[in-house]
Amino acid sequence: MLKITEESLKKIYGINDKTIKLYNKAMEDVKGQFDKYDAIREYNQIKVLDAFQEERISDSHFTNSSGYGYDDIGRDSLERVYARIFHAESALVRPHFVNGTHAIASCLYGNLRPGDTMLSVCGSPYDTLHGVIGIAGNGKGSLKEFGIKYKQLDFKEDGVLDFEKIETTLKEDKTIKLVHVQRSTGYGYRKALKISSIKKLVEVIKGVDPSIICFIDNCYGEFIDTIEPTDVGADLLAGSLIKNIGGGISPTGGYVVGKKDYVEQASYRLTVPGIGGECGSTFGVMRSMYQGLFLAPHIAIEALKGAVFCSRIMELAGFEVLPKYDDERSDIIQAIKFNDKDKLIKFCQGIQAGSPIDSFVTCEPWDMPGYDDQVIMAAGAFIQGSSIELSADAPIREPYIGYLQGGLTFDHAKIGILISLSKILAE
Ligand SMILES: *Cc1c(COP(=O)(O)O)cnc(C)c1O
Repeated sequence: MLKITEESLKKIYGINDKTIKLYNKAMEDVKGQFDKYDAIREYNQIKVLDAFQEERISDSHFTNSSGYGYDDIGRDSLERVYARIFHAESALVRPHFVNGTHAIASCLYGNLRPGDTMLSVCGSPYDTLHGVIGIAGNGKGSLKEFGIKYKQLDFKEDGVLDFEKIETTLKEDKTIKLVHVQRSTGYGYRKALKISSIKKLVEVIKGVDPSIICFIDNCYGEFIDTIEPTDVGADLLAGSLIKNIGGGISPTGGYVVGKKDYVEQASYRLTVPGIGGECGSTFGVMRSMYQGLFLAPHIAIEALKGAVFCSRIMELAGFEVLPKYDDERSDIIQAIKFNDKDKLIKFCQGIQAGSPIDSFVTCEPWDMPGYDDQVIMAAGAFIQGSSIELSADAPIREPYIGYLQGGLTFDHAKIGILISLSKILAE
């Protein structure tokens, strides 16, 4: 580290010597990992650039349609760029998806019918989907209310799908129409699902019945590997544009990619049957959506480096972490087990204090709607709730696990993490 950097960290942020020492050691340890991820980043940049060029993207695609938004060439071309990147037949990329949950729900509502069963094979899905499925909340408007059944299978062990049980369940229950897979850990304490596991899962599903849809919640997973789930046969994918693939630039939105028929069905739930993706004006956000996608391979790896560094330095400081710094990753989330409420809160407050926006705010645990426990969230982001920007959050419950993700630049992620650790070690 430059002497001037070390002095600034001490002077401006009050980082203590203990933390600086761990910092230097951690940076040495993560070098090999960083080289590996740089190579992935470089390849994905080629993939994205090539898709732009093949679609002959030009200034005229940064359209600003209004009203119905018929024939918005910027919107339609961006969807073809996405389809190319994912090697998929079709894509729906819209600012009208209010979040990732909305994009995922459109896939579910669009492709499931009364009497069908949705099977989750990664245990309990992400919290915000519970209301969609009808396993939480008052059930109003849920898939359950429409007569769509739900089943769930747990992992065999950490991050390992129970392939045998999945196969027998699919053979026994012929009403299963869609298998729901969550690539990222979410608020779980497990490893993210690797593409190689998704490949094996697709083989199992298609071996039983090729018409069963393999759906992937791809949130936080984009550009962490050289291939995506669609490259190994997944039928349909959805995710958020205020995570990896929006590159920190896209102001809002979600995406769906996959087989043409399944994407089309999802489009009828984003808008209405008969209209689907043909409508939807884009209010001048197309340039940001293109630019975000162009930057996404780089930004995703910046965030990933933040996670890897966090994992190593927190482990050196004596905390249990998941994944470890040298584990193979499939998402940008880093979990840290604090076993102590105070330390967890201090960690989140440190991330907030290190943010470019709202750094002067002290975050506190609060009773957030939809959660059983109090939740603390640190987010000083340019885009509200954007978690490709440096953020940390946690439900306040034992064993007090904190989740860190994002960072538009690794340099910034590092500062936030150092402030947090320094606060904890200062005790
Ligand atoms: C973020 C996320 C979602 C969707 O959340 P939104 O807040 O609606 O964008 C779904 N699944 C996983 C695993 C996620 O990380």
